[in-house]
Amino acid sequence: MTSAPVRFRVGEFACVSLPDTIETLLEEHLQLMFPTDTDRWLAAFRALPGSLTFCRNILLVEARAQRLLIDTGNGSADPNDPGHLLEQLRAANLPPESITTLVITHYHPDHLGGLVDESGRPSFPNARLVVPSQEHAHWTQPDVLAGLDPADAAAFHRMVAAHADRLTPLDDTAAIAPGIHYLSAVGHSPGHRAVLLESGGARLLHLADAIHTPLQLNALDQAPFDWQHPAAAAATRRALVSQAAAEGLLVMAYHFPFPGVGYFRRHGDQLAWEPYTASAP
Ligand SMILES: [Zn+2]
Repeated sequence: MTSAPVRFRVGEFACVSLPDTIETLLEEHLQLMFPTDTDRWLAAFRALPGSLTFCRNILLVEARAQRLLIDTGNGSADPNDPGHLLEQLRAANLPPESITTLVITHYHPDHLGGLVDESGRPSFPNARLVVPSQEHAHWTQPDVLAGLDPADAAAFHRMVAAHADRLTPLDDTAAIAPGIHYLSAVGHSPGHRAVLLESGGARLLHLADAIHTPLQLNALDQAPFDWQHPAAAAATRRALVSQAAAEGLLVMAYHFPFPGVGYFRRHGDQLAWEPYTASAP
């Protein structure tokens, strides 16, 4: 399944959400994603008015002279689940060579995979690579690398080697670009980061994998893929979702239904996902 890129603005920033993949969720997927309390998740899933997708949404931001991408999708490493970001960029007349800055939220393959092509060459040959310093420090520890699946460790080494001369670990105090910062969102991975965009009084909170599906909005303590530190991930999710709802922030969520952009709206004691539309305030 595919879909055309969606364009929107955050103040002076021109933004585009591009679909790396769009997958329609079936009940069997829900059973794998939520192995505990499965009946309750299935009941919520069946009560939805339509189908639910699980996507990989890539945000492109034009910020003055910079053209940034936040995460890079799955790339070509897994032939059973290839990413489509490069085709999407070319079709939208946004060639990969024009990307100046790659911003990675965390070191999972569905976010890093698009950095290199089948031969291990950089997919974005002119871009510097910005990564969260806490995440980089974690995954480059010898004992952590030794504990990875050998194929994953080899893929990680290829990625680092391909970008050795322009890999920039950043903490939350340093701007990625004017108006663009990392925000700590640890839990889903040890150094997982959200990204905050601020321009002309407008803001966008890119949550990356702090939340995976709108079904979680009224069960914030639970998550499908927070294997490592579930308590920290739940605390992060609760804090960021509450802040976004209270402040009416425009939000982007990497795995939400494409384009993954919208608002968390509170109705009584329930939260609902309101997808962005061009006429939304
Ligand atoms: Zn992910």
